[in-house]
Amino acid sequence: DPRLRHISDSIRSIPNWPKEGILFQDITTTLLDPVAFGHCVDILYERYKDQKVDVVAGFEARGLIFGAPLALRLKCAFVPLRKPKKLPGETIGEEYTLEYGSDRIEMHVGHVKEGNRVVLVDDLIATGGTMVAGIKLMKKVKADIVEAACILELPLLKGKDKLVEHQVGLYTMVE
Ligand code: 5GP
Repeated sequence: DPRLRHISDSIRSIPNWPKEGILFQDITTTLLDPVAFGHCVDILYERYKDQKVDVVAGFEARGLIFGAPLALRLKCAFVPLRKPKKLPGETIGEEYTLEYGSDRIEMHVGHVKEGNRVVLVDDLIATGGTMVAGIKLMKKVKADIVEAACILELPLLKGKDKLVEHQVGLYTMVE
């Protein structure tokens, strides 16, 4: 798919950010290019359009950017997975550890219902800690996870293996 090359070329790498030794993959340059950004959403749409998806759940912060337009295209609900104390209503959450530090994600109670078919969306999977927290959160509310989807994968960090342990498939576009 020639679109994948375009997406890959649109991402820039920033060395030593947010910490010494980390090569940060910056997708804000993808967002500057409506063709590349559009390809990301189109590819996800094509993958999930016949999967009877009820909810796209997007991780703060960059999963919100890709998840929301996908939900609109799929004509389904969008549920933001936020950092603590961001959501105004009653929340349910899950703790996790990530590449740099530990954190927690929360969502509004009742916004994902038992049996809902959910696609989890983020920009990038590294260790998989964030995605696994999302998976656990969806399982807490007895949702069905269709798949986890990211634009980028850092395969050396083996996030995909972690998802396999939780019986959830991972779809990524570029490495
Ligand atoms: P993980 O939990 O898989 O170790 O890390 C993935 C999470 O951290 C994602 O929410 C992702 O947005 C963020 N993240 C970690 N490293 C990078 C990076 O190099 N680039 C971007 N854009 N996000 C990153």
